Amino acid sequence: MHQVGVIGAGTMGHGIAQVCAMAGMSVNLTDRDPSGLERGLAAIRANLQKGVDRGKVTAEAMESALGCVQAVPSVEACVHQADIVIEAVPEVLDIKQSLFKQVEPLVRPDTVLGTNTSSLSIAAIGSVLERPERLIGTHFFNPVHIMKLLEVIIAKACSDDTVARIQEFGTKINKEVILVRDVPGFATSRLGVALGMEAIRMLESGVASAEDIDKAMVLGYRHPIGPLKLTDLVGLDVRLKIGEYLAQELNNPAFIPPQLMRDMVERGELGKKSGQGFYTW
Ligand code: NAD
Repeated sequence: MHQVGVIGAGTMGHGIAQVCAMAGMSVNLTDRDPSGLERGLAAIRANLQKGVDRGKVTAEAMESALGCVQAVPSVEACVHQADIVIEAVPEVLDIKQSLFKQVEPLVRPDTVLGTNTSSLSIAAIGSVLERPERLIGTHFFNPVHIMKLLEVIIAKACSDDTVARIQEFGTKINKEVILVRDVPGFATSRLGVALGMEAIRMLESGVASAEDIDKAMVLGYRHPIGPLKLTDLVGLDVRLKIGEYLAQELNNPAFIPPQLMRDMVERGELGKKSGQGFYTW
């Protein structure tokens, strides 16, 4: 896979473009918003410069990676001759479906289509495609250039060839690939949100302070960050929505957001982005 098209240059898209470029792939990056595309490119440059400053990336590798990324003005130009197209546009089913509908006739029949959705059903996204066998979930983690995991989500329609090609791609961009069936919450969100909701319930019922609940997991189980602090980073509003969705889809009350979480979201205490969550930021 030498030619990659990345659509959406926001938080995730620019990172995906960066890791592909660092692996020597030729990347076309586009965004509906020209200023978003500019910001994405600037973020790639800044990330690489930080790597150089810290001695983790050589100046030559930085220049070579920057030389591999082309900012292009349209989806057509982005996917032209692509071996793989990855979308990182907003988490809205309609947006992803209409984007892939637009992309499908523009690419070769064997081009792999990857979606960076963090929760939507891959089958639902692929239901609008003529050839859903080449659509696969490519769930990256933020920040993409640092997080090692690539969660690959395989819908029923997905072909073995698509899975094999994505595994090869994951290895080339230096990620650890896990293979997960297309079920709500995949592996990552399901486990992460379950832990987060239980931690909030424990705080709510006075089992321990937020700091001590987090310490329990950090020091007792070697988690790099506690479940409450992680919820602050992700955003309480974002996790509340995922929790509601998973509770319904998996028919599992463990995911029902606790009242404390609802009250905090109601008060605008959304975590790091609002300055206040389980911690003051
Ligand atoms: P973002 O808002 O930072 O970026 C989305 C970009 O897509 C924006 O720049 C926007 O202008 C652009 N865009 C919107 N519609 C478009 C279109 N039709 N064509 C081209 N560009 C378009 O969003 P993000 O945080 O990068 O999230 C992107 C996807 O990645 C979502 O599905 C999200 O759930 C998923 N995801 C996010 C994270 C995270 O931590 N942010 C982690 C894993 C997965």
